[in-house]
Amino acid sequence: MEKKPFNAFEMAQQQFDAAAEKLGLDQATRDLLRSSLREYHFLIPVRMDDGSYKVFRGFRCQHSDARGPCKGGIRFHPNETIDTVRALAMWMTWKTAVVDIPLGGGKGGVICDPHNLSDREQEGICRGWVRQIAYNIGPVQDVPAPDIMTHGQHMLWMLDELERIRGGKFPGFITGKPVGMGGSLGRTEATGFGVMYTVREAMKELGIDIKKTVGAFQGFGNVSQYAVKLFREYGGKALCVSCWDQIDQTSYTFRRESGVDPDELMGITDKFNSIDKAKARQVGYEVLPGDAWIEQEADLLVPAALENQITGANVAKIHKRVRIIAEGANGPTTPEADVEIHKRGIFMIPDFLCNAGGVTCSYFEQVQSNMNFYWHLNEVFSRLDEKMTAGFKAVSELARKKNLYMRDAAYMIAVSRVAEASHLRGWV
Ligand code: NAD
Repeated sequence: MEKKPFNAFEMAQQQFDAAAEKLGLDQATRDLLRSSLREYHFLIPVRMDDGSYKVFRGFRCQHSDARGPCKGGIRFHPNETIDTVRALAMWMTWKTAVVDIPLGGGKGGVICDPHNLSDREQEGICRGWVRQIAYNIGPVQDVPAPDIMTHGQHMLWMLDELERIRGGKFPGFITGKPVGMGGSLGRTEATGFGVMYTVREAMKELGIDIKKTVGAFQGFGNVSQYAVKLFREYGGKALCVSCWDQIDQTSYTFRRESGVDPDELMGITDKFNSIDKAKARQVGYEVLPGDAWIEQEADLLVPAALENQITGANVAKIHKRVRIIAEGANGPTTPEADVEIHKRGIFMIPDFLCNAGGVTCSYFEQVQSNMNFYWHLNEVFSRLDEKMTAGFKAVSELARKKNLYMRDAAYMIAVSRVAEASHLRGWV
């Protein structure tokens, strides 16, 4: 029989159904939360540089705004599908709910490949996207952000278009803006630092002295770099990181017995953002195959590269010393591997809690933009720590009380908060 292609939305619905069942949710609440509250599908005609016209397909899914304006990125991708956008919008609702920020969940996308588009053509897509839904998005309705293949410049074009249409200044409409143009200090560090705040709390609870721990990290991008930095500041030893090598089209693990130094490695990445193997060897790193990170003798594993990395096929390779897995990436662990990890009693900090530092800082950006008053870096970090720590403690307390796997506990807290908001508003 032909294997059915992976459908993220079906998976998101299954996860929701399982949580709804555990919580005993009524049918109407289930019907309300297992699909997008609103969806917009539209066409974006753009005049191309050669004078021709091309029509792009755009989406926005607003999964739930029961707890506040929808929040979530806009992706530019040639293989974008509405079901992926639906799933990601739903996951954003659970992410904002689990760290208890007053926002809902949304996601958007445009089917396009920015690699083959000039800046002017991309600007046309950004402005066209906003024109189609200018009265259904905004600081009190739905707040977009950058995502795959979109960044601060795209956000500013979108902001400018909305402000022209609506007549006024609305910096709180969109996040991920450059610092100085309404962006928040600390956004670059936020996700990686957030991962480490939850790790620090998990170690406290498990009675582990972080100064005596060793961590193995997958990836060496935005999340991993800052997670490694803070881990070292806390006294931990980062044994390895890994990264994709653009030239060899494979990944490598960089391991050094005395510990990885992220600043040193950031200084020897090549123009493709891959760590230079020869230069790394010169400063004492072993260069191992890409999947070696998972079998290291470490107390902590941090998958912070991409989805589908800890699977039924490699979960048995996890060293017996490992006590904690902190999911910096989205969806790095498959359900099959989850069962094994749960059985082995490894403490799991699930993705939508672990990497929620990014959206929490985006929320701070929105608050600052709405006030038109910007915070010092220390204020951002201390508020981020407060939110992440509180989110972690709520989930771990429920997991302990009801003897639940951390991922299940996180789902139950997030879904019950959104269900309760929907009940209190009198929707269901
Ligand atoms: P990034 O593009 O900055 O870094 C990704 C890293 O993974 C790079 O070092 C790359 O070389 C490496 N990599 C890619 N393929 C690999 C492979 N097969 N083996 C080993 N390493 C590989 O991305 P990022 O922003 O750090 O995001 C990483 C993950 O975290 C993604 O799943 C993302 O969705 C998630 N996430 C990011 C944020 C954020 O604020 N950046 C927030 C929430 C979740």
